[in-house]
Amino acid sequence: MGRGGSRDKMEEKTVVILGATGSIGTQTLDVLKKLKGFKLVGFTYHKNEELAEKIAKEFPGAAFVSTVEGLQAVEKFLESTRPDIVVLAVPGFSGFLLSMMAVSYTKRLALANKESMVCGGRFLKEKAKEEGVEIIPVDSEHSAVFQLMEEGIVKIAITASGGALRDWKLEDLEKAKPEDVLKHPVWSMGSRITVDSATMVNKAFEVLEAMELFDLRRAQIDVYIHRQGLVHGMVFLKDGTVKVHVSKPDMRIPIALAMTYPERLYEYLEFPDLETLSFERPDREKYPLFFLVDEIYDSYAKRTAFNASDEVAVQAFLDGRIGYLEIFRVVEGVVKRFDGSSVRDVQDLVEIDETARGMAWEKIERSSR
Ligand code: NDP
Ligand code: MG
Repeated sequence: MGRGGSRDKMEEKTVVILGATGSIGTQTLDVLKKLKGFKLVGFTYHKNEELAEKIAKEFPGAAFVSTVEGLQAVEKFLESTRPDIVVLAVPGFSGFLLSMMAVSYTKRLALANKESMVCGGRFLKEKAKEEGVEIIPVDSEHSAVFQLMEEGIVKIAITASGGALRDWKLEDLEKAKPEDVLKHPVWSMGSRITVDSATMVNKAFEVLEAMELFDLRRAQIDVYIHRQGLVHGMVFLKDGTVKVHVSKPDMRIPIALAMTYPERLYEYLEFPDLETLSFERPDREKYPLFFLVDEIYDSYAKRTAFNASDEVAVQAFLDGRIGYLEIFRVVEGVVKRFDGSSVRDVQDLVEIDETARGMAWEKIERSSR
């Protein structure tokens, strides 16, 4: 093989983004514009056709398909592109089903979707292992812990911003409107995850995600509210050392690493200002949905119901059908109705997801009548 162009091309890693039109998706595109040696060969979008066409113009040669066409169409698309890396940037339970599919057609899953680990971590890990696929976390806290990880750690900690209402008085929470909740103090993200940051459901998900990704017990994962958004994760070692990961809160950093790991090829060169770093324990009364994690972590059925009911309740809140505090009532009410019975396969999870959604809608309809 001669030197030069053709050789570079051969070494280029091919990338497909599932959910390219979203917050993680568009930031992945930003990264790809700067990274050498990585080529976007395809992407999916859901409804934002206008943006999809714009992306297609910017990345000539990238095939694209709308997920509205159904799972089979996406599977055909993955089969024809067979990328080295799939960036999974679709939210919700749908993202989990796409992860399960993607591991049959790629070598690396750069995983942003949290529900994959929350709802069906065991199934996804098993399938990835069978297919020889690496799963590299994109979520910033997990990327941090992944970078700090070593043998024999005692525990880890992940940080939370506390969300848009972190300084609101308890008695005012009832009045919180979607526009209040959508003003995230640190990150700019999709609407569901921004609401989930205010309730800290997002951090409950991240605890479950960390248990799966790093094979930890619930008791080995601490959560701190950290206002500056600079420390993302910590690892505690048996000799009393704590390793801390610090970076600017910019998702492009962990997205890039998930693609280039074990190398660091993304040049960013902006470092945080380290004047003040503060850490607080989350308050049980302000974040009851976060503390629900302790009642559900050991059952995939409950975890799937937790996600499904939250997805529905957050949508109903954003649509103005229920108040902020009702998100908790809906989710708690639904989760309680699931026992810890074992889940045999992904089909069981699909059924639990559907049942829990139905229950959540029922509760919402009853309370908005
Ligand atoms: P967005 O809502 O910004 O984007 C969602 C993307 O998925 C869009 O491309 C959207 O398409 C597509 N999409 C929406 N619904 C479906 C569906 N039912 N089936 C297939 N595709 C769909 O979300 P984010 O980028 O914020 O989040 C993506 C995932 O990454 C979530 O699981 C989130 O928890 C996780 N994550 C996000 C972080 C962030 O900073 N944003 C940080 C860490 C994790 P379209 O717009 O064309 O309709
Ligand atoms: Mg996160």
